[in-house]
Amino acid sequence: MEPARVVIVGAGLAGLRTAERLRREGYDGAVTLVGAEEHLPYDRPPLSKALLVDPGPVAPPLLRAADRYAELDLDLRVGVRATALDADRRTVALSDGAVVQGEHVVIATGLVARDVPGWAGVPGVHTLRTYDDCLALRDAAEDAAHATVVGAGVLGSEIAGALRTRGLEVDLVDPLPQPLHRVVGEEVGAFVAALHREHGVRTHLGATVAGLEQDAAGRVRAATLDDGTRWETDLVVAAVGGTPDVAWLRDSGLAVADGVVVDADGAASAAGVWAVGDVASLPGPRGGRLRLEHWTSAGDLAATVARNLMADLRGAPRRAHAEVPYLWTDQYDTKVQVLGLPRADDDAVLLAGSFAEATFLVAYVDDGRVRAVAGAGMPGPLMRCRAAVAGAVPLDELRTLAPWERRKVSA
Ligand SMILES: Cc1cc2nc3c(=O)[nH]c(=O)nc-3n(C[C@H](O)[C@H](O)[C@H](O)COP(=O)(O)OP(=O)(O)OC[C@H]3O[C@@H](n4cnc5c(N)ncnc54)[C@H](O)[C@@H]3O)c2cc1C
Repeated sequence: MEPARVVIVGAGLAGLRTAERLRREGYDGAVTLVGAEEHLPYDRPPLSKALLVDPGPVAPPLLRAADRYAELDLDLRVGVRATALDADRRTVALSDGAVVQGEHVVIATGLVARDVPGWAGVPGVHTLRTYDDCLALRDAAEDAAHATVVGAGVLGSEIAGALRTRGLEVDLVDPLPQPLHRVVGEEVGAFVAALHREHGVRTHLGATVAGLEQDAAGRVRAATLDDGTRWETDLVVAAVGGTPDVAWLRDSGLAVADGVVVDADGAASAAGVWAVGDVASLPGPRGGRLRLEHWTSAGDLAATVARNLMADLRGAPRRAHAEVPYLWTDQYDTKVQVLGLPRADDDAVLLAGSFAEATFLVAYVDDGRVRAVAGAGMPGPLMRCRAAVAGAVPLDELRTLAPWERRKVSA
């Protein structure tokens, strides 16, 4: 057994940010950061954007330069997977045979890409979650003529755009009525669908792929929809979401249900155990639970947990996580941004601009109150809606504040 005071499992964005924040908060004990991938912590958003479009040589987009780890004084173990947790004793068993024990354990294991049943391992079928996945997809795109992207969420829509920009024919399929439907709803989703069509992507919305055909060598050759529509394709990307990487917690004694169940402080069901990033299942602002799969939110929750962990060590009160969720996605040259969490039954109200000009701000209103805002081409005004979203102010109040109007310069 090796002593370590804080053990962070998962060396991605949320794990690294937790370690950095602990040091910034003045934590001077030992920190072990364990990561299953062979790479130093790297950034995922470029994997479905610039790195996929540009066929040139690449390196992982590191979140922190290799020569800046010494100042964090970490016990960094990459290429090592945590295989089990005993939540009561806070011991973590590792794939290299070591066992580390922490006064605190922070779970930051993110997601694994979901496979479509029967498609895993079929030559020509890809998923995208890791840098290595990105390299494999880039290579496949090099030789492919026609891509089929299954799933038009944030990731699938970006992948479709990137492959189209590389010059491939692209078919984009989703059972929902619009791309990005879960994150921006019908109206903004329709705007994104139009962008794809303008760029020559064939969209099949409200549709599912009934089956793939393979050639004699087993390679994917064609896709058929449930309505019988068929096309030839030599590359398929299954972008159907991810599942929390929690298999290793099976016998931990921890409450796990679509992620690690945490309270508003980021604390899991056992004392001294926390979760951050995509794997954390938080109490939702409108009831229920939610997991945020957003870059900014991963860092925000890491900051909350580091602060609360330090508060526990110092015997100080904790502070509940209160950041407004924020997401961006790049669809071709258009950045779509979302503050808060729109729900399918919210009313989408155009506040400013127009979809035709690709410059707009939309409020998501529930019972007269603003719950979220989405926009394109208006980053400043969107960010100035943060307090309104956090406070769920009445729509009229937001209209009166009109943060989308140019700010008056006082004389
Ligand atoms: C291709 C792509 C594009 C994205 N683009 C955007 C975007 O445009 N905007 C946006 O807001 N968000 C985007 N996101 C989401 C954002 O990147 C994630 O929210 C963020 O990476 C979550 O960080 P995380 O640390 O929780 O998980 P991850 O980054 O997945 O890190 C988890 C790490 O834990 C490791 N791990 C898992 N199990 C174990 C184990 N048992 N032992 C040790 N290590 C383990 C994994 O190997 C992984 O390295 C994108 C995500 C992807 C995949």
